[in-house]
Amino acid sequence: MEQHQRAYNFNAGPAALPLEVLKRAQSEFVDFRSQGMSIMEMSHRGAVYEQVHNEAKQLLKELLHIPEGYDVLFLQGGASTQFAMVPMNLLAGGKVGAYVNTGSWASKAVKEAELIGETQVIASTESDRFMRMPTAEEIVAPENAAYVHITSNETIEGTQFATYPDTGDVPLIADMSSDILCRPVDVSKFGMIYAGAQKNLGPSGVTVVIAKEELLANSPKTIPSMLRYSIHHKNNSLYNTPPSFSVYMVNLVLQWLKERGGLEQVERDNQAKAELLYGTIDNSGDFYRGCAARDSRSIMNVTFRLADEELEKAFIKEAGEAGFVGLKGHRSVGGLRASIYNAVPYASCEALAQFMKQFQQKNG
Ligand SMILES: *Cc1c(COP(=O)(O)O)cnc(C)c1O
Repeated sequence: MEQHQRAYNFNAGPAALPLEVLKRAQSEFVDFRSQGMSIMEMSHRGAVYEQVHNEAKQLLKELLHIPEGYDVLFLQGGASTQFAMVPMNLLAGGKVGAYVNTGSWASKAVKEAELIGETQVIASTESDRFMRMPTAEEIVAPENAAYVHITSNETIEGTQFATYPDTGDVPLIADMSSDILCRPVDVSKFGMIYAGAQKNLGPSGVTVVIAKEELLANSPKTIPSMLRYSIHHKNNSLYNTPPSFSVYMVNLVLQWLKERGGLEQVERDNQAKAELLYGTIDNSGDFYRGCAARDSRSIMNVTFRLADEELEKAFIKEAGEAGFVGLKGHRSVGGLRASIYNAVPYASCEALAQFMKQFQQKNG
């Protein structure tokens, strides 16, 4: 069979995976570590799977320099289930869940929390159409806050926190689904970080939770077992059957990141990709218009617009014919979006910048 060329994949999630990882998975797909079966076919209670599971945990700790006193969980249900699990586990009576509303995903987190307990939106950029992130000074935790919840990168709007707020003794909780591992982060500043895997970590099916053990240990006994952090923490995320193939793929992605030189190098590469695309937008004399405020621009999701929707439609159609995938903005905001997660090669961004210039020459 002829080798089909890899698409220029700018999908928002599930998203591009490193070609090296896919090939490695392919090479050990049928017979994993000489067991005569694939990883999907073996017991999650056996030594072989358990090793993969613990390797992934260890690598994540290494790459993010996760301090002592934190645990890493592999859960299911996506980041969307965390929107509910966070308040179910951590929002005790008399306390308030404090939320920073920065866009589509933060709004969903607020909506779920409101079903469960007392919530308060302590900062919002809705009046700026969510096109910027709040400054650290805008975020002040109320005295009775159980936690402060932020969304580090708004995948749909294309905004990202440049610096994180300091919430003192109140645990800071971040939904990092679309920018985890895109740059180094000081985990000790956070009570909890969670992320669905399918943007920057691997395939869908597993959700990573990194949290201080004290936040994981005391889940109320009134909530179902599967929704209690304490159950998963006590059982090394093996209380029930884990999403074993997804965890295995995450492990391969983490190895790939380590081989690339860790998160400092990953950040440099991501910066270069983002600068290339934002530069193309900014140097287009208003033909392309960046959506996000400059100081809030995401290095993961580049959102931009053209003069009108007709032109945007033409752009998406011609880009599709030229091999570019996933450039249509989310249906809720329109426009265009290039998601340039860790696994998207610089060469794909170069090809896109080239295409954008050609499209402008023809239509400008
Ligand atoms: C994609 C995304 C989610 C939803 O993730 P699921 O795994 O589909 O539940 C939540 N938050 C952010 C920031 C996202 O990008």
